[in-house]
Amino acid sequence: MCAKDCPDPNDPPEGFYAALVARHSSDGVVISGPDRKARWVNTAFTAQTGYGPADILGKEPGSLLQGADTDRDAARCIALACAQRREVRLDILNYTRDGTPFWVDLKVTPVYDTDGLHTHFISTMRDISERKTLEDQNEEMRQAESLRQSERQLLALTSEWLYSAKSFEELLMVVRRAMHTLIPEADGALYIYATQRNTLDLVASWGTIPDFPGHILPDDCWALRRGRAYAFGLKPIQFPCDHVHQKDTPYFCLPIIAHGETIGLMHIIFDGFEEGGLMRHMRAEVLNNRWDVSLICAEQISLAVANVRLRQELHERSMRDALTGLWNRRWFTEQAARELANAERENTPLSLVAVDVDHFKRFNDRFGHDAGDLVLREVAGLMQAIGPDTVFPCRLGGEEFTLLCVGMPRACAVDQAEELRTRVAALQLSSGGSSLPCVNISCGVASYPQDGKSLAQLMKLADTALYAAKEGGRNRTISVADLSVS
Ligand code: GH3
Ligand code: MG
Ligand code: MG
Repeated sequence: MCAKDCPDPNDPPEGFYAALVARHSSDGVVISGPDRKARWVNTAFTAQTGYGPADILGKEPGSLLQGADTDRDAARCIALACAQRREVRLDILNYTRDGTPFWVDLKVTPVYDTDGLHTHFISTMRDISERKTLEDQNEEMRQAESLRQSERQLLALTSEWLYSAKSFEELLMVVRRAMHTLIPEADGALYIYATQRNTLDLVASWGTIPDFPGHILPDDCWALRRGRAYAFGLKPIQFPCDHVHQKDTPYFCLPIIAHGETIGLMHIIFDGFEEGGLMRHMRAEVLNNRWDVSLICAEQISLAVANVRLRQELHERSMRDALTGLWNRRWFTEQAARELANAERENTPLSLVAVDVDHFKRFNDRFGHDAGDLVLREVAGLMQAIGPDTVFPCRLGGEEFTLLCVGMPRACAVDQAEELRTRVAALQLSSGGSSLPCVNISCGVASYPQDGKSLAQLMKLADTALYAAKEGGRNRTISVADLSVS
């Protein structure tokens, strides 16, 4: 402070303190006339804006300070308040003389003389750029957090649905829907290894114009070759997989692993980025985020696939006979009832062939239980081998078998039974070092609709026909039609 600032501390001249404030305040101050044209500015104003008195005096400050991104509504609000001679206070974006934007907390106050005449406007401007930057950063963080939050919720929801999938088809439905929702800008496909493990088959795809090859070779994919997830489009050194036809398009390949074994591949491709669209400038950021989400999804899908396989295995096991691998009585009862209802609805035939090994007890008695078991397995093997896909061989218990022949009329079912009987008779078996005698079977055939309408009726009649075959000398096939003849 210089000597002339403080002539006499006990008796300063009129306006001395006001002058001190105006000179040393860090807030910019503009005093304008009732026409809003500037008449005086303080040094802080010049420091803030770069405009000296010569630039601004006689001009309306807004005309210099407002710019391209200044909120039009804020500018109108100031003009209106001045016209109505009201005080106004708001945050507004201003520009310095060299064009740098900065935020100010602006207060414009009308001043009146003792007669109540409006004489001036006093504008004070506080630079709040730092606060605004922090506010913007907070807002960005809040938005990012809320995005992550909804992503987490979506992932949790997805995992819940994946785990409740009872069948593979249901699982694929959830995968399609979930992946499309979680990563909307990408198309995707799920491949599962074929039984021989030399190719992977396309089992599901999603997205706008999914156009994926129906099969891919394990060697064509970097992820499968390297045994870990692969992202194309994030690194400076990278090579595209051979199964991807849109070169230069970013994509991810994620192995699907169940019980430690790679069973498939999820492929996610970001088609939208290449169209020069809005997303392009956020490409790296979006891809990095999607990579994280994709890894979680691949892991969840892997667990869900393992889960469904286990369920299917348990279900299958509970429906299969342990000795022969044929469908068991439980499966037969459920499936036959379903097929019978279908046959009735669609007016198609259906036949049951009851099969029983002749003098089976003798195999057990003469050659031991193991020999008996062998005979049962061999007969079962032939039952599985001969029929078309619509003939389901079942073991109902002991040495009683049944063929459930869907869509098959009596004559065909009799042929089927005869074919089985001939093939069984041709078996040459040995057990424990001894050759077993010839195995014969007897068959009884009952057919829908002519022989009966209910499953119980048909089973009973097939048994009656079987009993007649035994009575008639064994090693033969008798149908219900033959019964009514005799
Ligand atoms: P038939 O020509 O009248 O059918 O005479 P069979 O000896 O085949 O008839 P029966 O029904 O009296 O004998 C069936 C035998 O099958 C009785 C039982 O000990 C045997 N058996 C049932 N289940 C099994 C099995 O799982 N393994 C073996 N080895 N024997 C079984
Ligand atoms: Mg028998
Ligand atoms: Mg029997």
